[in-house]
Amino acid sequence: MNSVYGPVPSWRLGRSLGVDPICGKKVCNFDCIYCQLGRTSRKAERRKFVEADKVREDIERIIDKVSADVITLSGTGEPTLAENLNEIIDVIREMTDLPIAILTNSSLLHKNEIVNELKRLDHVIAKLDVPNQNLLEKINRPVEEIEFDLILRGLRKFRNLFDGKFSLQIMFVKENERYAKEIASLARELDPDEVQINTPLRPCPVEPLSENEIKKISKNFEGMNFISVYESERPRVKPMNKIEVLRRRPEE
Ligand code: SF4
Repeated sequence: MNSVYGPVPSWRLGRSLGVDPICGKKVCNFDCIYCQLGRTSRKAERRKFVEADKVREDIERIIDKVSADVITLSGTGEPTLAENLNEIIDVIREMTDLPIAILTNSSLLHKNEIVNELKRLDHVIAKLDVPNQNLLEKINRPVEEIEFDLILRGLRKFRNLFDGKFSLQIMFVKENERYAKEIASLARELDPDEVQINTPLRPCPVEPLSENEIKKISKNFEGMNFISVYESERPRVKPMNKIEVLRRRPEE
């Protein structure tokens, strides 16, 4: 399996070349009801999934042939679970001047080692779908030791220490639609550079909200810099290897 995929047309990042620090079957400490990768079945402890040298070889093979706006750490699960994330960031920095982003579920931001790793990036996109523990268990279904208070503490801590671009990504589905005001209030407190309002438009086990419903939700975020999945444009890009994209984004 190749650890590099894309570029993919991302509504929030432009032409995004993915680097997957998990690079195998899905591994996550969440089991979100809307996950396009299917149910979580693999034990989620921090460990090495793919050698940094393999990432180097995979990037080397294509970096001169692709046109991308950003390298995004993302793929077959939660990228902060890769214990060699620092090494992988080193490899990417050696090989390209492109900015590096990460899509994280925010579950490990309370840990100093993770903060120190992510602080090296240009753009951190952190998930916050819920305003309380009850809804966290209904929507994100984390492993037992991950609690809502811990996630919020991690988000606050990281926000204070990070100098790069900090975005909050919020996936809205039926279950959290009526909590938009509470989530917006938490977002306001965290003061991100950007809020990304999403609903699952790719094939997954739950229905997306309509454009109208997302418009109503967006009103709660007025005054903040927000973008929404229905209103953002996707660039046109051709991936180098369609199969590698399909492994991470099954509908492409
Ligand atoms: S955090 Fe991401 S990879 Fe993990 S279950 Fe949720 S959507 Fe899937």
